[in-house]
Amino acid sequence: MSETKITIIGAGLSGLMSAYLLQKKGYEVTILEADTRSGGRIETLTGATGATMEMGATWFSKPHQNLIALLEEFNIPYFKQHTQGISLFETMSFVPPQKFEISDAEEPSYRIVGGTAKLIEKLVQEVGIQNIITNSKVTSIKEMDGYLEITTADGITSKASKVISTLPPHLLVQTIGFEPQLPESIEKLAKKTHTWMGESIKFSVEYATPFWRTNNYSGTLFSQASIIQEMYDHSTFDHNGYALKGFLNGGTHALSREERKEKVMLQLTKLFGTEANNYVDYHEKVWRDEPLTFFPYEQLLMGHENNGHPNYKNIFLNGKLFISGSETASQNPGYMEGSIVAAKEIAAQFLKKIK
Ligand SMILES: Cc1cc2nc3c(=O)[nH]c(=O)nc-3n(C[C@H](O)[C@H](O)[C@H](O)COP(=O)(O)OP(=O)(O)OC[C@H]3O[C@@H](n4cnc5c(N)ncnc54)[C@H](O)[C@@H]3O)c2cc1C
Repeated sequence: MSETKITIIGAGLSGLMSAYLLQKKGYEVTILEADTRSGGRIETLTGATGATMEMGATWFSKPHQNLIALLEEFNIPYFKQHTQGISLFETMSFVPPQKFEISDAEEPSYRIVGGTAKLIEKLVQEVGIQNIITNSKVTSIKEMDGYLEITTADGITSKASKVISTLPPHLLVQTIGFEPQLPESIEKLAKKTHTWMGESIKFSVEYATPFWRTNNYSGTLFSQASIIQEMYDHSTFDHNGYALKGFLNGGTHALSREERKEKVMLQLTKLFGTEANNYVDYHEKVWRDEPLTFFPYEQLLMGHENNGHPNYKNIFLNGKLFISGSETASQNPGYMEGSIVAAKEIAAQFLKKIK
């Protein structure tokens, strides 16, 4: 088996970035992706009005230097999150919200023009669509004499000299079988490694006009009192589409979509008046219902628990299996920046020079 044949599991930001870097070093890379699409926890939805809405990763800021450098390398523009105007903080359901303004001196967050999926599209183009096999859910990995045998849910097997997993570590050990088994210590660690945002619920309400801006609201809301816990203006950079978007209370995953939507619209009309009811569409994504991201934990984990643990730098199955993905990065694990850092750390472990 050629030492340059690598299989990457997962076509999220980590998997695509790892492929991009390893191809540059002369490796032959195949990505196996269980879903019908690339992107993983990055998913930009385009609504009827043309508004692009992030159901997954959205924001980054200046400390995320590896991500910013990649966007600059690819000429992908980004812009500041809109925060001008009155922001709201609901402490209790029976008192009016507190009003405040976010100072221009605050460290801004940025969004990608056209949506975070622009970065995924560019990486897919760079890596080559022919090297990304979608609808390929890896179910087991077996160590053979000098290579690894990878089996997918449809029973297809393939061989690789090295395998890089980019699944969140917890999902990896809960959903892929290994022969021989992985060391107990890494299994235990992975079961206690939190998958960032795995339990979250994202929502977006699409509008024909940004009525909140006209009424001098920023669209920013923090609430301890109702279903929407955090919300921001989600208008597009070119003002082609308008939306309010944020996170719902994760506990409401047990409700139906209609029940959540009703509560969201009630909260928005209470805060912004009846204009809020003139929405074009309501969108949501319950990430804990996504089996390619989330697997229930055996015990309660704190956000980012064990993210970036140094034991993820070990190599398994006699130097053939690498455990990567954002949650393993030594800097900013769990975030898009972490995905890029993790990919760079993996690429650095492959010593072959650029051809
Ligand atoms: C709601 C939400 C909001 C977020 N907001 C932000 C934000 O604002 N800023 C930020 O920086 N980050 C944010 N994040 C985190 C960010 O999305 C992740 O850090 C990043 O996308 C992780 O990329 P990854 O490639 O490491 O993992 P993933 O994106 O999880 O990729 C793993 C891939 O593996 C695939 N897969 C799973 N099982 C198998 C299998 N058995 N076989 C083959 N393929 C498999 C999955 O389908 C997926 O494509 C957010 C995440 C979510 C969910």
